[in-house]
Amino acid sequence: QSAKPDATVHSVCGYCATGCSLKVHLQAGRAVNLSTHSDYPVNLGMACPKGWEALTPLAASDRATTPLLRGRDGELEPVSWTAAMEAFCAGFKDIQKQHGADAVAFLSTGQIVTEEMAFLGSLAKFGMGIVHGDGNTRQCMATAATAYKQSFGYDAPPYSYQDFEESDVLIFVGANPCIAHPIMWQRVMRNQRDPEIIVIDPRKTETAMAATQHLAIQPKSDLALFYGLAAHLVSIDAVDLDFIAAHTEGYHDFVEFLADYSLETAAAATGLDYAQVSRLARLIASGKRVSFWWTMGVNQSYEGTRLAQSMINLALMTGNIGKPGTGANSITGQCNAMGSRLFSNTTGLLGGRGFECAEDRQTVADILDMPVERIPDRPSLAYNEIIDAIDAGTIKGLWLVATNTAHSWINQKRFRRVREKLDFLVVQDMYHSTESAEIADLVLPAAGWGEKEGVFINSERRIGRTRKVSQAPGQALADFHIFRLIAHHWGCAELFKEWSSPEAVFRILTRLSHGLPCDITGIDGYADLEREGGIQWPFKKTEREQPGHELKAQRRLFEDGKFYHANGRAKFIFEAPRPMPEPVNADYPFILLTGRGTSSQWHTQTRTSKSDVLRKLYPKNPYVEINPEDATALNIKPNSKVCIRSRRGEVEATAVILASVQPGQVFMPMHYRITNHLTASAFDPYSKQPSYKACAVTVHNI
Ligand code: SF4
Repeated sequence: QSAKPDATVHSVCGYCATGCSLKVHLQAGRAVNLSTHSDYPVNLGMACPKGWEALTPLAASDRATTPLLRGRDGELEPVSWTAAMEAFCAGFKDIQKQHGADAVAFLSTGQIVTEEMAFLGSLAKFGMGIVHGDGNTRQCMATAATAYKQSFGYDAPPYSYQDFEESDVLIFVGANPCIAHPIMWQRVMRNQRDPEIIVIDPRKTETAMAATQHLAIQPKSDLALFYGLAAHLVSIDAVDLDFIAAHTEGYHDFVEFLADYSLETAAAATGLDYAQVSRLARLIASGKRVSFWWTMGVNQSYEGTRLAQSMINLALMTGNIGKPGTGANSITGQCNAMGSRLFSNTTGLLGGRGFECAEDRQTVADILDMPVERIPDRPSLAYNEIIDAIDAGTIKGLWLVATNTAHSWINQKRFRRVREKLDFLVVQDMYHSTESAEIADLVLPAAGWGEKEGVFINSERRIGRTRKVSQAPGQALADFHIFRLIAHHWGCAELFKEWSSPEAVFRILTRLSHGLPCDITGIDGYADLEREGGIQWPFKKTEREQPGHELKAQRRLFEDGKFYHANGRAKFIFEAPRPMPEPVNADYPFILLTGRGTSSQWHTQTRTSKSDVLRKLYPKNPYVEINPEDATALNIKPNSKVCIRSRRGEVEATAVILASVQPGQVFMPMHYRITNHLTASAFDPYSKQPSYKACAVTVHNI
C-alpha cells in the first residue's frame, strides 16, 4: 500500500487465543496497513504471519456481499435484507410451530467478539425460545473448561504469559506452540532462567525439535505417564503436604488410587525408557518452578478431561500453582477463547452460571430486566448431541454463525449426510464459498475481523479491544447488527432495547460478572481497555476504588491458595485410563495423528487461504507424513500419491517421508478439507469434546 496513514488505532488480532495487539494505520478512517504494538503486554512488538496479513482476507473476491436465498431452481440467489429476514423468521418459526421450539438450534464460534456471542446466545434463548446452541469451542477448549470447573470450581486458567519467562521447567503436552502459538513460544525463548523445556508428544514437532528433551510417547499413553509420575512423587515424599492440607481435598483417595502406578508402569505404557521417565520425575521433584502447558493433544481426546486433571493434580501436589512460573495451564485456540467460555449462553448461563439453578436464572433476569420465564431451565445439548438430534429428526432447523461445520466437524461425511435431514439451514459468514455456505438454504453476509467493534478475551484471561478499521463490502453487516435485525423481525426487540451497541452490551456483561470469579466490574467501558492496553480478569470495582491502585500488567490466579469451590479447596480428580476407541488392527494398522501444520494457516483456511503470502508458506495440496521404515515396507516413494483409508472414508495425499512420526503412525494437518473424512466420532464423556487425534487407518500407494 502506498497510501500514507493519517491515524493509527490498536486492535487485537482475530485469529488465535494469544491475543496480540496490532497497530492498524488508517487513511480517512480506513486501514491501509498495519504494524506491531511494542507496548502491549502480550506480544511485546511481535506478530506471526497471520497477524501481519490480517487485513488481506477482507478484500477477498468471494466475500458474501448480499443475502442469498435458495430458490425453487435450487440455486442461491441474491435477495434484500428484508426478504432474508422474512425467510429466516418464517423458516425457523414454521419449524418451531410444527415440531416445538427445541427443533431449531444454532452453532457459533470463538471467532466473533464477546458482545456478539452474548447477544447471539441471549437472542436465541431468551428471544426466540431456542434451547439448543453450542459453539466450535466444543472442538477446542471444552475439555479444559470442564477440567478446571471440576477441579477448581470455575473455568479459570490460572496463568499469565509472564509465566513462560519465569518458569524453570516447562512441560508441553500435546502442544506445538512453535507454530500453533508462535508468539507464546517467543515468550518462552525470552526466558533467562536456562529452563528445561520438555515436550511430551508422539510426533517430533517443531517444538519438540527446539526442546531440551522430547518424550515421544505412544499415542494416548499420557494419562498413564502422569499417574506413574504422581505415584513416584508420593513414594519419595516429593510433595507439598502443607499446601495439600491447606488448599485441596481428595488427596488421600488419590494416593490410594495411585497404588497401581509407578515409573515402571509409566515407562511400559508410554514406550519410553525408564531413565527418561525417571529424569522427568526428578525435574518435577527438584523444587524448581514447574509449569504444565497443554493444547489440543490433550483437549481433543476421548479421556481429555481426566488427562488435563492429571496435570492439575501434579501441580497441586507439588505446590506448583499460584506462584510465578508455575501452573496447570491450558493454552486455548481461538481469539475469543475465554469470552466464548464465559458469555456464549449455550451450555452455561451468562457468566459461567447454570441454567438449572433457579437463583442464577433470577439473578440474570434481574440484571437484564427480563421476565425470568424467558430463561430456559435446562442447558443446551452439546455440539455432537445437536448433530445426533438432527440425525434422529428432532432438530429440523440449524443456524451456523461464523463456523464451517461441513469442513471442521469430526467424521465430516456424517455431517453432510445429516444435513439432508434439515428442513432449513442458515449460514451467517464472511464468505459465500465455505463448504457450509454452499449447502445452505439462506446465507447472511457478515462483516469480519476489522470491520466491527468489540472485545476478545484471550488465553491468559486478558480482555482486549478489537476495532472497526475497514468498511464491510456490499450489504454485509456486523453480526451484532444482524442480531438486531433478527430481533426486530422476530418480534422480540423490546427485550433487547438496552443492547443498542457493542459497548452497551460490554457494560451489561460487566454487570453480569459481578460477584463471579470473572468479575470485571472495575472496567469502566472501552476507554479503560484502550488506556490500559488490555485487562485480565478479575478486576473488581472494589479493587479499582482502592486509593492509589495501580493495575498490574500481569495477573495470576490462586496466589492466595483460595479456589472457587464452596469450601475454597481444589479437588484431586482421577480415573483409570481407558483403551483407545479405535485401536489398530490388521486391516487398519496405522494411527492417524492430526494437528496444525503451519503457523501461516488457520483452522479450515477460510480466511488465511485468501492471502497469497500465507498460501506460499504452506503446501497447497494435502500431504501425509510417513515414517521411513513404513515407507520402505510399503514401497512408498517421497512425493508419490498415497491413499489413506479409515472406516469412514478414503482420501488422497502426497507422501512426505519423515521420521517426525514413529513407525506405525502417520500425520495429516487439519487445515485440508479432506482430513476429517477420516476422523472418528469418539468423545470425552465429560466435556463432549471430539477426539480428533487418533484413529486407525491404512495407507497404500495409488
Ligand atoms: Fe498473535 Fe495469534 Fe494473531 Fe499470530 S495469529 S499475530 S500469534 S494473535
